[in-house]
Amino acid sequence: MEDTNKNKGLRKQLINILSEKGINDKNVLNALNNIPRQWFMESGLKTYAYTDKAYPIGEGQTISQPYTVAYQTQLLKTKAGDKVLEVGTGSGYQTSVLIELGCKVFTIERQRLLFKKAELLFKKIKWKPKKIVFGDGYKGLKINAPYDAIIVTAGSPELPNNLMLQLKIGGRLVIPIGTKEQTMTRYVRVSDKEYSKETFGSFRFVPLLKDKV
Ligand code: SAH
Repeated sequence: MEDTNKNKGLRKQLINILSEKGINDKNVLNALNNIPRQWFMESGLKTYAYTDKAYPIGEGQTISQPYTVAYQTQLLKTKAGDKVLEVGTGSGYQTSVLIELGCKVFTIERQRLLFKKAELLFKKIKWKPKKIVFGDGYKGLKINAPYDAIIVTAGSPELPNNLMLQLKIGGRLVIPIGTKEQTMTRYVRVSDKEYSKETFGSFRFVPLLKDKV
């Protein structure tokens, strides 16, 4: 687990790029600046850790682009102590960003190999989720609900109703909705039965898949 001065310098440059691209939440930028992204990447790709792109992490999945991680995190509007559910642990990078922000994170991954890899990585680094679960995030994680915020990090063809039901009143769900391309969407549970909906830009995610486990 190495983090050289060169890594730190490149990270700072990446943070400047993200800020130029419109990320303006200082806490989010700080969190990304504190996390060595190379630790979450495959050994042959570590030199690209500070390029603002998504890269393969195995099993046909990717570590999200830093801009996307920052964008979604910004939309979640978390504060320290918030209970957050993440659907799609993948590399564990987004998970660590939320933990760095002081959130208590519950995270679900449906690819066994990626789940195992992330579980092992969290043993070695300082960012630890409250729980990492092998399962289908479409269903959410009822046992620990309700959540202040829920983030889906894969493209969802439809809105998973269970996730809506697992939000606190005032809770936010940030989810990319669509098949080939996704619209970043934020739902806020304004009362027991009412939700507000806002849409943001277009993104491309690997698909949220159902019924593997
Ligand atoms: N947050 C991750 C992004 C990984 S890509 C990161 O920062 O690296 C999206 C991940 O969602 C993939 O690992 C994929 O296996 C997972 N995924 C897809 N469908 C899922 C589902 N129904 N439940 C849980 N995870 C799912």
